Amino acid sequence: MYQIIIHGPQGAGKGTQAQILSEKLGIPMLSMGQLLRDEIAKKSEMGLAIEDTLRKGELVDEKVTSEILKKRFAEPDATNGWILDGFPRMMAQYETFDFAEPTHVIVIEIPKEESIKRLTTRLTCDKCGYVSGESLGFSENQSCPLCEEGKFVAREDDTPEAIERRLEIYHTDTAPVLSEFEKDGILHRIDGVGTIEEVHERIQTLFT
Ligand code: AMP
Repeated sequence: MYQIIIHGPQGAGKGTQAQILSEKLGIPMLSMGQLLRDEIAKKSEMGLAIEDTLRKGELVDEKVTSEILKKRFAEPDATNGWILDGFPRMMAQYETFDFAEPTHVIVIEIPKEESIKRLTTRLTCDKCGYVSGESLGFSENQSCPLCEEGKFVAREDDTPEAIERRLEIYHTDTAPVLSEFEKDGILHRIDGVGTIEEVHERIQTLFT
């Protein structure tokens, strides 16, 4: 059974690659960021409490992320494996991550300038969270080809300031987590520069 974590700097293509891998392996893709945005959309008490943190690009408290994730892992579609994007992002989360056992940690690597270029033109479906971008020929407000219900919008935290902040957090807080997975022998670094298909081919070699 595959329990896969996908990491990488913002804009590396984690969500896109997780979506493709999810279809190929027949296991669900879980995005921590999307689970948090869903909570905000529900306007639950927890959602209201974390709204500001997400807008600024800061990290949400680990008690909140663990609680949301445990609930998601318990849903029936996740019992045969999963692909998790964006967790654990800091040591405190790694240390409390005793409720699941990843088999692979894939790190998609791209240079900082590429992150900024990709994120400032990124578009996300406001209904299903499908990620695309202007570089792939989509424009803002166009309807989503995947769920056919939502429309493409720029994410509120894809501003240059929030992007810089998230990249900084990735290097200070997430890098130590990756070192731990490296010690466990389950970390795989993948070059994220190239077309979506090229990057997918590199990832796919891990599962053949
Ligand atoms: P993402 O969609 O992965 O870019 O995440 C968007 C935002 O959700 C981040 O900037 C954080 O505010 C929050 N977030 C996502 N994953 C985590 C996590 N593991 N821990 C804390 N906050 C998170």
